[in-house]
Amino acid sequence: MSNELLQDVLACPSLPSLPGVAVRVLELTGNPDVSMHEIAESVQQDQALSGKVLKTVNSSYYGLTTRCGSIDRAMGYLGINTVKSLVLGFSLVEVTNAGGDDSGFDTTAHWRRAVLGSACARILSERLRVADRDEVFTAALFQDIGMLAMYTAMKERYGEVIEGVEHSELSAVEREEFGFDHALAGSELARKWNLPTHIVDAIEHHHDGESTDVEDQSIVRVVALATLVADVMSVEDPGPAMRRVEDKLSSWFPKHGLDLEDLISEVTTASETLAELFNTEIGGFKDPRQLVAEAQERELEHQITMQRQSEALARQATTDGLTGVANRKQFDQKIEESFERFRSDGVGFSMLFLDADHFKSVNDTHGHAAGDAVLVELARRAEGVIGDKGLICRYGGEEFGIVLSGMGSSEAAELAEALRVEISGSPIDLSAIEGAPNELSLTVSIGVSGTDAGEPGRVVSGLTIVQEADECVYRAKESGRNNVQLHGVQGFGRDESGERTGGAAAPISKPRVQGDQPLRILLIEDDALAATLLSTLLKRRGGHMVEWISKGTEGLDRVRAAAESKEVSFDLVLCDLDLPGVNGLEILREYTKLGLNEFAPFHVITANQDDWTKREALGLGASVCVTKAEFTADIGRWLGVFGGESASDESVAVAGAA
Ligand code: GH3
Ligand code: MG
Ligand code: MG
Repeated sequence: MSNELLQDVLACPSLPSLPGVAVRVLELTGNPDVSMHEIAESVQQDQALSGKVLKTVNSSYYGLTTRCGSIDRAMGYLGINTVKSLVLGFSLVEVTNAGGDDSGFDTTAHWRRAVLGSACARILSERLRVADRDEVFTAALFQDIGMLAMYTAMKERYGEVIEGVEHSELSAVEREEFGFDHALAGSELARKWNLPTHIVDAIEHHHDGESTDVEDQSIVRVVALATLVADVMSVEDPGPAMRRVEDKLSSWFPKHGLDLEDLISEVTTASETLAELFNTEIGGFKDPRQLVAEAQERELEHQITMQRQSEALARQATTDGLTGVANRKQFDQKIEESFERFRSDGVGFSMLFLDADHFKSVNDTHGHAAGDAVLVELARRAEGVIGDKGLICRYGGEEFGIVLSGMGSSEAAELAEALRVEISGSPIDLSAIEGAPNELSLTVSIGVSGTDAGEPGRVVSGLTIVQEADECVYRAKESGRNNVQLHGVQGFGRDESGERTGGAAAPISKPRVQGDQPLRILLIEDDALAATLLSTLLKRRGGHMVEWISKGTEGLDRVRAAAESKEVSFDLVLCDLDLPGVNGLEILREYTKLGLNEFAPFHVITANQDDWTKREALGLGASVCVTKAEFTADIGRWLGVFGGESASDESVAVAGAA
């Protein structure tokens, strides 16, 4: 014991001392040569005290069947230890009351812990058949004398420190503030009063229950358990205290077989009797059944909260803080999982890499907050388009990786295109960002790859797909941004104005390409699968390059832009008839009006062709009108058909051999 403040507390002159009778009883009981009769005599010298002891002995608390008229007989029936514990108990009452009813020290709470603790410790000792029931009774009764000592010595300062602190937290607060706690102060005072050493020890460890000083820890543990039970019966939220009781009971006394409701019920009755005998105020009790139910309920709530917290933590560990979508870690896991499934069960997968175009300039021009808001909106739009079809992840910076398990690459490319359109189609609202414009238009470049998007044996790990999709993003950037590139399919992207980039644009006066030279084909087709298939076939049969547009309106814009800039950077248009927005025939009408078939023929391809459509298309200036099936069955032939020749209504004119 080196703490100076603790020394001061113990040396405080106003510290209470034990009444003479208690001191004598302690002395005599410590001497094996002293007879029971001598001890009884010394108790009886204090008539007031021995009267209280006898009253207690004969009360329902001890349940004796025969009345005891003297301390001698009480000792005969109950043993020296019981009488000694009562002498000490009543001495403590005297000591505490001598301290005066100083405002600031909650004597009711103090007595409640002492009475509940000692009653419970005695019951536990009997039920568990461990330790001496009178010793645990005394130790529990004296457990908080340290508080009394600290309060006596430090008054207001101690009162302020402990104000509002739950008793289970008290030791930590005291140690922080004073360098020692009431348990240590109490044990030192008990030592000074010559209380038996295991009682001193039990007081010191009444909160932790772990003493290394004594061979038999059971007295320490019973007192600590009783303290916890008293907590359950006194605190506002009994849940955590009840959990501690259950934990300690099962770890210290694994075969305890105690029913907590019964225990609390017994402690309630015993405490009420004791409080009356000691003439102390200890407050009321809840119905034990209700108390246990409430504790269980609170504990359940607590567990649910804990579970939620741990789930939230787990979410944090796998979620991107800014956008709320999955983070890179989850992306890597998902790719790994998808690859494993592909390898073991042959279930293919695809992925998209989305990279915001010129994103740095958003930060540079409008500030980082605007950049952040754009990223959040990109994630939100991706969620809208992808839904539950895939996992959207923030791969890093302004890049998102989207993993589509079980999805083929053409469907993935279709989704990518839908996402690109969703993002470029309407500006992002930045009205909430100070210093930023209200709206900002943004485009993205998307690379797509899938297990089915190239040579079958090439996918040797999840990384294959990631690298391919990454290369496709690069290609999309090269092709002028704002476009989708699918691995294994050669295509040309469009830049922000819808114009093809990559390769010099042909002048409008350029002669039409003839023969079997590779062609630059503008494909207007809303069905991504068909577009992918056509692109692949066109590349294989003659190295033709495809610029793919999926929407009618964009096709119309593309055609107009070509005419306006006087650059037709394609050699042939392949246009589907049924398109969302603007129909293929309308594009054709405009195309002819602009005089573009002079420079590149316009082929209409349809899903199901009827005579009327065919006549209409050819009448409007199409070089060819053919079903997709016919077209793919004989690509070379249909590509060779250029618009110069007149087309009959029966079959199309053929110019140039395939
Ligand atoms: P490109 O079209 O070629 O993709 O050009 P870019 O400007 O989008 O690409 P670059 O890689 O040059 O710039 C990416 C920028 O993204 C740089 C970086 O400051 C910014 N960035 C990365 N993470 C965040 C973020 O969490 N918030 C914001 N606001 N900006 C970010
Ligand atoms: Mg205590
Ligand atoms: Mg970028």
